[in-house]
Amino acid sequence: MPPAPTPTSPGVEPGPSYVTGSLTDHTPVLIMHLAAIRDNYTALQQTFGGVDLYYAVKANGHAEVLRTLAALGACFDVAGAAEARACLDAGVSPAAVAWTNPIKKRTDIAAGYQMGVRLFVSDNANDIERIALHAPGSAVLVRITVPGHGAAAPFGDKFGCPPDQAVHLLRHARRHGLVCLGVSWHVGSQQSEPGAWETGIASAAQIFAEAARYGIDLSTVDLGGGLPVSYTAPVPSLEQYADAIDRGLARHFGAQRPRAILEPGRAVVATAGTIIATVVQVATRRGRRWVYLDIGRYGGLAETEGEAITYPITAARHDPGTGPVVLAGPTADGDDVIYQQHQPWLPLSLVEGDRVVIGCAGAYTASYSSVSFCGLSPLSVVTIDQAGDR
Ligand SMILES: *Cc1c(COP(=O)(O)O)cnc(C)c1O
Repeated sequence: MPPAPTPTSPGVEPGPSYVTGSLTDHTPVLIMHLAAIRDNYTALQQTFGGVDLYYAVKANGHAEVLRTLAALGACFDVAGAAEARACLDAGVSPAAVAWTNPIKKRTDIAAGYQMGVRLFVSDNANDIERIALHAPGSAVLVRITVPGHGAAAPFGDKFGCPPDQAVHLLRHARRHGLVCLGVSWHVGSQQSEPGAWETGIASAAQIFAEAARYGIDLSTVDLGGGLPVSYTAPVPSLEQYADAIDRGLARHFGAQRPRAILEPGRAVVATAGTIIATVVQVATRRGRRWVYLDIGRYGGLAETEGEAITYPITAARHDPGTGPVVLAGPTADGDDVIYQQHQPWLPLSLVEGDRVVIGCAGAYTASYSSVSFCGLSPLSVVTIDQAGDR
């Protein structure tokens, strides 16, 4: 038998109190460590000095998460009206909110405007007309398509206009009384290549130059999200991303360096979250050991689809004898299998009722969990701070 890989959690190591304390009487539960969020955000600020950080709320919109980041002076990237409302409720000024989802109903635009949001991302003429009508005079960033190589979750063709249509859209926006701010793109989430921003930066520089010929003075590049975290495999350091982006901006913009925005989601909250789950059943099927947890694809582990994200998974039970398992969720759905290929090694003595710890789970988990599939409740979230539980 090959030796068991030692699962390493780059996030906060779960202490025994999480497993035995009252916080985890009811599982599954996501524990968010607010101090780790502060550390992650501060590290991003220091590494990307001079870049404005807009936290992508869809990664984890818990009120305490938003309040923690608001207290650090963060700006916020929202995908819909409820997220914008949650930011305002957390004490964020609407001036610090950007509505970056290019897909929105006109009622969403109107709701955003009503709340005071004045910055929208768009990628088509029809949407620009609706923004002009329902959020008159707002600022817009035009989203362009970029290649998604290197991303665990690429965006494909869903968003963005071809770069050679961006100026046409910007002129359209100006004709409709909107303020043209700049260019936006997203290299795909959990992007493993620091060089992935280069194509977008090159396109943006061309768009800035062409827009200037029409008297449109662009100021801002929105670099989107995509910064990765180390789940079970190492990723390049934040410094490598900052250096690559910095060099790209210098190469394509020279001395006319634009204002830059980053919208990190995963990199702010992933390592700050730990899920505690419980083993529902263990079974042997066709020679393989299956472990069924009380959380799966629909309870918050949506990003395990296609095994795109491989969380570090350990058992609370201490037992040196471990072996590979197929990990599955509790629902009656056939797709609710967490990992078939990437088989975590768990104790051979694992039984129903044992706790399992899923590390690095603060991003795209609670916000993705279904409301009642197979009667299961959405993933509950508790936050803890240095000061203690809350
Ligand atoms: C989801 C999203 C982000 C955050 O992406 P991460 O990969 O989590 O950093 C940023 N910007 C936009 C427009 C998004 O849709």
